[in-house]
Amino acid sequence: MSETVNTFEAQQQGRPTGPLVHGYEVIIGFETHAQLSTASKIFSRASTAFGAEPNTQACAVDLALPGTLPVMNKGAVERAIQFGLAIGAHIAPRSIFARKNYFYPDLPKGYQISQFEIPVVQGGAVDFFLGDEKKSVRLVRAHLEEDAGKSLHEDFIGQSGIDLNRAGTPLLEIVTEPDMRSSAEAVAYAKELHKIVTWIGICDGNMQEGSFRCDANVSVRKPGSPLGTRREIKNLNSFKFMQQAIDYEVRWQIEQIEDGHAIQQATVLFNPDTGETRAMRTKEDAADYRYFPDPDLPPLCISEQWVQEVRGKMAELPRNMAARFQASYGLSEYDATQLTQSLALAGYFEAAAKASGQAKLASNWITGELARRLNAQDLSIEQSPVSAQTLGQLITRISDSTISNSAAKQVFDALWDGATEVDAVIESKGLKQMNDTGALEAIVLQVIDKNAKNVAEFKAGNDKALNALVGQIMKASQGKANPQQVNELLRSKLA
Ligand code: ADP
Ligand code: MG
Repeated sequence: MSETVNTFEAQQQGRPTGPLVHGYEVIIGFETHAQLSTASKIFSRASTAFGAEPNTQACAVDLALPGTLPVMNKGAVERAIQFGLAIGAHIAPRSIFARKNYFYPDLPKGYQISQFEIPVVQGGAVDFFLGDEKKSVRLVRAHLEEDAGKSLHEDFIGQSGIDLNRAGTPLLEIVTEPDMRSSAEAVAYAKELHKIVTWIGICDGNMQEGSFRCDANVSVRKPGSPLGTRREIKNLNSFKFMQQAIDYEVRWQIEQIEDGHAIQQATVLFNPDTGETRAMRTKEDAADYRYFPDPDLPPLCISEQWVQEVRGKMAELPRNMAARFQASYGLSEYDATQLTQSLALAGYFEAAAKASGQAKLASNWITGELARRLNAQDLSIEQSPVSAQTLGQLITRISDSTISNSAAKQVFDALWDGATEVDAVIESKGLKQMNDTGALEAIVLQVIDKNAKNVAEFKAGNDKALNALVGQIMKASQGKANPQQVNELLRSKLA
């Protein structure tokens, strides 16, 4: 389809060059199959539940028995609309189902019902941070289609079987422009997309069970050259493999080109055991599929009113929530984005902010200490041993000057290890900040007396010398002095 390639080419005009690998720019576009979370299939009433005995969830329509007709599942369309709204796309008022013809044992009809020329969701973009850099990957389209069945190779009996439970499962295929420029950016995109579909609840996101499968189209080029020929890595179902597969593929393509070989367009599979990609088939063109409108299905018509109804039922979207966090809590865009990585995390933040009345501090603790601890033990926010309310209490004790920041870390340790009462921990560990100015003043004077050298340096204009004195005083107070108060007292004594 040379026309498509030219469109992609045109879309890349004026975009900045990405990081180079051995002098080559890496170009990546994604096709992602998100399984929609409907109870029944896209064109039949059979169940979509995972893990049933083979062929117990395939009805006459899924088996393609003669005389059966497909009937569109409204829930699948609604989920496609939700997705379109979530990524700022155009929802086509009229889209068309097409037959994609190919022969394969797991495809009983001999064609897959998909959308070709007029997909239901058009355009839109997925925005995310790569490190602290903002990225936006543009989507070409998202279309509804049915999944195929599965071949089971039963080595122990030397036979292959077909399981049609998955046949007719609703999928949303989400296609990007070739906008990504590194494996890291591709993984960040995939994670963001995964976050969106699970956040709005249209897909369970279970990658092991195949509910969210990514195909990565990869090519390389010398900066400024036209797009190179791509190879498509199929069915990447873990973020780790995704990065490994793309990195391997990029190295392989560069080696081929450097050795004087042209890249052949192909579909390849990644083998996690060897860490290599291997060609599965040379790539078919759209023409090979002989697409044509499915005469069994009328055009899919979506009224503006339906779109508004769906919009009205949708929960707040991550990016709107992030904007609200910035506006109403004064958080940075980066922090707001971090805190809206999942609904659970956002909920945790809001609960801690409410409990303490200190949103900024809550944000710092959650993206700092708490995130570090959760990561280290590979825990999700739902599994945090410290509840949002408890963290809120801890933050309250920092903001009302009962404890210092360093004491708060000790309290947090205790909470992480199972303690639940913040005040009880402060009491039992004797961490209360010293609020008795008289006692503090005595310590300050003592430290000034004993550290003539630092005092002289500070008076000579070296502001850093003050830190040494503050350190001494904090130590002498066993960490109970309020560092800010110490600072002020010191400056006034030394003025
Ligand atoms: P198909 O793979 O079904 O033939 P398309 O031709 O629409 O579909 O392209 C699929 C994907 O390939 C899109 O995500 C697009 O961004 C990506 N793509 C197209 N050209 C290139 C290229 N030269 N390098 C990398 N990705 C590309
Ligand atoms: Mg493809």
